[in-house]
Order: sequence, then C-alpha cells, then structure tokens
Amino acid sequence: MDARWQWPNDQPQRLLDAFRNRTNIHAFLITGAQGVGKRTLARLYAQTILCEAEPAARPCGACGSCVRFARGSHPDVRSIEPGGNRSNIISVDAVRACTDALQRQSYEGGAKIAVIIGADFMNVQAQNALLKTLEEPPGDCVFFLTAQRRMEILPTIRSRCAWVPLSPLSIGRAEHTLNLYGLSRSEAREAAEYSGGAMGVALRYPQEIKPVRLRVERALLMVRSAEGIVAAAKELQAIIDERADAERQLRWLLLLDILEFIARDGMDKSVDIDSAESNAATQSQPLLERISRASVRTRLGLLDAVSDARRRLSMHISGTVIIESLLFDWANMRRGSISSS
Ligand SMILES: [Zn+2]
Repeated sequence: MDARWQWPNDQPQRLLDAFRNRTNIHAFLITGAQGVGKRTLARLYAQTILCEAEPAARPCGACGSCVRFARGSHPDVRSIEPGGNRSNIISVDAVRACTDALQRQSYEGGAKIAVIIGADFMNVQAQNALLKTLEEPPGDCVFFLTAQRRMEILPTIRSRCAWVPLSPLSIGRAEHTLNLYGLSRSEAREAAEYSGGAMGVALRYPQEIKPVRLRVERALLMVRSAEGIVAAAKELQAIIDERADAERQLRWLLLLDILEFIARDGMDKSVDIDSAESNAATQSQPLLERISRASVRTRLGLLDAVSDARRRLSMHISGTVIIESLLFDWANMRRGSISSS
C-alpha cells in the first residue's frame, strides 16, 4: 500500500486493523464516487487478509502471498469487473465462474477472496446468482463489492454486506497529499479542484486528463458560428476516435466529465494554452471571461446539455449526433444568456 494515500476518515483504517486479525464478516460493499479509492481499499483489505506476516505487519508487501497478489497471480483471488463485452455489464456467466471457483479448496490453505469491481453493473440475473452464494458462502471466503450507485444493488445483497461508504478528501487535504506525490503547488491545486478531492482522479489528472481538458476548452472557443461548431465537433470527435474500440466508452465518459466540470466551474482558471496557440488565446480571451462570468441559469443549462448527452450515450445514439447537439445547445445558451447578462 502506498503510504502517501489518505482516507477521508478513520473507518478504513479501523477495518484494516480488524482484518489484520480477521473478522467474521463475509461480504463488504464499498461505495463512493469515481476515484475515491474503492478499488484501492478493496485490494488493500484483500491483501491484508491473505498476507503471511505477523498480524501487526499486514499487509507486508514482501511475503510470497503479497508478491503474488501484487502481480495479479494469487490463485485464491478472483476479480471481476464490467467491460470486455460491448454491453458494459457484469453477466451471470462471469459471476458464476467466480462463485464456482470459490467452491473449490483454497490453493494456499488460507482465505479465498472475490473482488467485484463495479458491482452496480451486474444485471439482475448476475445479482441473483451472487445472492445464492452470499446466502450460503463456501468456507472461509470474503467478498468485496465496489459500486458508485449503491441503490442499483438488490436490497437482499446490500443487507448481507457490511457497508463502507467512502467520500472524497477535502480540497485542501487532497492538495497536500498531491504535494506528497510530487506535484507542484499549482498542479496539485488544479488536480485537487478538478477531482473534487477524489484522489484516484486527481492522480490521473496531470498526465491523462489535463491534456484532454485543454483540447476541449480550445474546441469550445471555436463555437461562435455554424462553421465553428462543425470544427469544434470535429475536434471533440477526434478526442474519442483516437482510442481503440474497447476504450471509447471510457473516453466518452472523460469527455463528458470535463464538459461538466467546465460548466460547473467556468473556464476562469488555468486555461494554460501552449505558446503556439497564444495568439488565438489572446483573441478569444473576452469570450473566456464571458463564460467565466456566466449566469447560474447558463451553467445549469450547460449541465442539462451534458446530462442529456450522457443519457443519449447510454441509449447508443451516434456520437456525432450527441456532440453536435451538445455544441448547438451550448451555442444557443450562450447567445441567449451570456450576451444578455
Ligand atoms: Zn505479506
């Protein structure tokens, strides 16, 4: 476990202490927003249960069990998550393969662990298959379920799990932690603000998210005429298209998260445009300022447009249609609200 990682309260640590001496609870549901550390925590707990060191030293990171765990090759750990199929759900077959494996003897003589990442993506049949195993769990096995949307999980499953809700860090604490990870002061502030204190998102921000955010902001600056909308739509589409099929869904979600952030937060901070673009940036500065001063009504309108885009995306409507209609909405709202305010 990375010693720099921090939790918003002491509940994860208290449970970790309990795991060092084993608890008799068989299932945990860890919930919270994207990037708050659900997967990290599930893995930390699982590793602690399996570690061969003295209880106080678990997880040691050095024993055979910890090494196999870190490599993803521990024979008593089963992990499933959505993706891999185009429908982005966890199917009943995936759950059955996992629960069947748990029925077998432990390879290393210790506990058997099942980690279900994105348990809210199990369809109803998959959830029912899991429920059967939770009702009569095979000997010495522990389930860790993670989910963003707790209410998508059947009440009968929820009632059999100990609930571990995770919240993000405060912005200040996230910033401090990001400093420990080597980010400069300004980088840390920007990443903390973008992520809202969700460290998993904040740590991806400098390398992975910020470059995309800058491209999205530049594209939005083009939205001043019909031709501008077409050019901006092309650029946003290019952001999606540069990813292979399997990663396009995640890229879409990133794009919509960025648009939502811009709508919520305005474009007033850190439009850090490369020197190559500095001329264009200077020319468009008044527009940026206008967006940053946008009325609450405009911002709510933009958020509506983004949530509409999310809905269309989940209905498998063509990406080009989603992007263009979002940009048209954006342009109309700006005309209707910002220029008059
Ligand atoms: Zn160990």
